[in-house]
Amino acid sequence: NAIAGSTRRKRKRTKTAAYIPDPVTSFDQLQSTYNLQPRLLANIYKAGFDSPTPIQMQAIPVMIDRREIMAQAPTGSGKTAAFVIPILHHLREPRNLGFRALILAPTRELAKQILQVCRQLSEGIGFRCRYIEKATTAANKFGPKSKQNFDLLVTTPNRLVFLLKHDPPLINLSRVEWLVVDESDKLFESGFMGFRDQLAVIYNACSSNNICRALFSATFAHDVEEWCKLTLDNVVQVTVGARNA
Ligand code: ADP
Ligand code: ADP
Ligand code: MG
Repeated sequence: NAIAGSTRRKRKRTKTAAYIPDPVTSFDQLQSTYNLQPRLLANIYKAGFDSPTPIQMQAIPVMIDRREIMAQAPTGSGKTAAFVIPILHHLREPRNLGFRALILAPTRELAKQILQVCRQLSEGIGFRCRYIEKATTAANKFGPKSKQNFDLLVTTPNRLVFLLKHDPPLINLSRVEWLVVDESDKLFESGFMGFRDQLAVIYNACSSNNICRALFSATFAHDVEEWCKLTLDNVVQVTVGARNA
């Protein structure tokens, strides 16, 4: 299960558990402090993002530092870019290694919206951002015999689990460095045990030693917090606004 998975893999740490990177107050600061690539910064400004929102100020440096994170901030507060920016920073450039980032969303609508943000912010860098349209065609597009010429996958969990449970699996997640669960409160809510099992299947398929997980939600949920504290490695908790907003 996911808990066994997290103890099985020991990640190398250069920072102590108590260390949390300082928030940034401008996007320029991301470039000066973390050497964000100019094209990514240009895309951020081109999207009309003049300065980071509070959740972006806090979550982006934490994720750039490869810390596991549980983040809560109100709807409309810019959570999508808060996880997409550090992921694009880590991916650096397109590689033909298969998916290196995986974002789970509770609905297809939301998954497609996140995909648009990924594409908007990676314009000119050439990342291949993908969505599982049909489980049946996904096997050909993304399966072991495909060219692995894609970088980032946004999907609802059902389709992905279907591909992973096939024998042999129809998708390889061994190069995934970031696993993001967006609207984690909703995913856990719709049958808590059901999604927790799916997440364990997905996490176990993400067999890289360098995997980091991030959970984002609008509302605070005790179930999610407990799961994060049990499962995530030195999790950083970030809350914007009232805890039960
Ligand atoms: P959430 O996931 O928290 O509900 P979204 O990521 O969907 O929020 O963002 C809500 C809106 O805010 C979107 O239209 C997005 O383009 C915009 N937005 C995100 N970050 C910024 C920013 N730094 N400055 C201005 N607008 C932003
Ligand atoms: P659609 O949106 O048309 O259902 P999918 O890609 O989600 O397309 O699924 C295509 C087919 O793959 C489904 O009709 C079903 O046979 C199978 N499938 C997908 N997800 C699951 C799942 N979670 N469990 C069992 N079968 C699945
Ligand atoms: Mg959102």
